[in-house]
Amino acid sequence: MRPFSYTRAETLGDAMAALAANPTARVLAGGTNLIDLMKYDVERPAAIVDINRLPLKEIEELPDGGLRIGALVSNAALAYHPAVTERYPLLASAILAGASPQLRNAATTGGNLLQRTRCYYFYDPSTPCNKREPGSGCGAIGGVNRIHAILGASEHCIATHPSDMCVALAALAAIVEVEGPDGRRDIPFADFHRLPGDHPERDNTMRQGEIITAVRLECNHFARHHSYLKLRDRLSYAFALVSVAAALDVKDGMIVDIRVALGGVAHKPWRDSLAEAEFAGQPATEETFAALADRLLAGAEGQGDNDFKIPMARKAIVRALKQAAAGTPQVQSDKRIR
Ligand SMILES: Cc1cc2nc3c(=O)[nH]c(=O)nc-3n(C[C@H](O)[C@H](O)[C@H](O)COP(=O)(O)OP(=O)(O)OC[C@H]3O[C@@H](n4cnc5c(N)ncnc54)[C@H](O)[C@@H]3O)c2cc1C
Ligand code: SF4
Repeated sequence: MRPFSYTRAETLGDAMAALAANPTARVLAGGTNLIDLMKYDVERPAAIVDINRLPLKEIEELPDGGLRIGALVSNAALAYHPAVTERYPLLASAILAGASPQLRNAATTGGNLLQRTRCYYFYDPSTPCNKREPGSGCGAIGGVNRIHAILGASEHCIATHPSDMCVALAALAAIVEVEGPDGRRDIPFADFHRLPGDHPERDNTMRQGEIITAVRLECNHFARHHSYLKLRDRLSYAFALVSVAAALDVKDGMIVDIRVALGGVAHKPWRDSLAEAEFAGQPATEETFAALADRLLAGAEGQGDNDFKIPMARKAIVRALKQAAAGTPQVQSDKRIR
């Protein structure tokens, strides 16, 4: 066990000061990922800053009809909040597809965004991993890579982002609010997570010392036509091999707005808003959805063990969009278990 200091912050200012005092300090929220990583000796913080007493547990209505979700709102509280089940059922469905009821009670909104990859090599300090130890190499390239990326990977890292909630937040174009030494700023969801490039050790675009305070959702028209389809090795308690958050605004059978975000396929939730825009005005049919799937996967590349993900993703996109168009979303198996 490595020694670390523990600070329980009473205010956001306290938390930021404690983070500024030690560059290896880590924020503690639900602890469901951070503590595991410390036990595996992957995360080695010299200081832990517990933010659980900060007033970040509210879900607020916004004047424009949107919602502001505090960073400490638990995944369970968010999934079962009436405003979310009624106006953002895609988000509720994605959250309920993840983890287990116990984990969702502890896990928080901010922590879910910042959970780390589930790449086996990342969790095993005896193997090379550029994300854990920059410059050491990548065990997954040429190794066991069944769960790895088919889009946006680099020669340095082929890891995927494991979150379900983030896939829905990408489709819904959420905004992440952060606060740090340079003040408060908003980060559009598409710019929040990074592709690995030359720096796979950086998962996101947050700056040193910043804390996520909230996630904002804009008013949307996707409550009727949505689906979160998650394909995995077991029906519950397993991360996605491929997942699809599909949302449609349809009028008289024609697409007004279409959103497709993919999970389990890239270092970040994968969304191509330019491709989506080309499909506005087209009929909401299987042929249109198949054409969009082909467009989204045009650059997909397998790593060997994970080649199956390319046809799987194509079929999943078409199926999720058909479910969304029909108003018959995928129902998560443990929807009623709290
Ligand atoms: C067995 C198991 C199965 C799981 N299955 C799934 C699944 O199927 N789908 C899925 O999406 N997830 C799954 N998860 C992941 C789970 O959802 C995450 O562990 C959880 O969301 C992390 O939230 P947390 O509050 O516990 O974060 P923590 O563990 O407390 O923190 C995670 C990271 O975020 C940082 N952090 C937390 N909050 C903030 C903040 N406000 N500002 C700045 N930094 C912050 C921490 O410093 C740390 O680096 C699973 C987890 C486990 C253990
Ligand atoms: S894929 Fe990324 S996280 Fe996995 S071993 Fe390679 S560098 Fe590490």
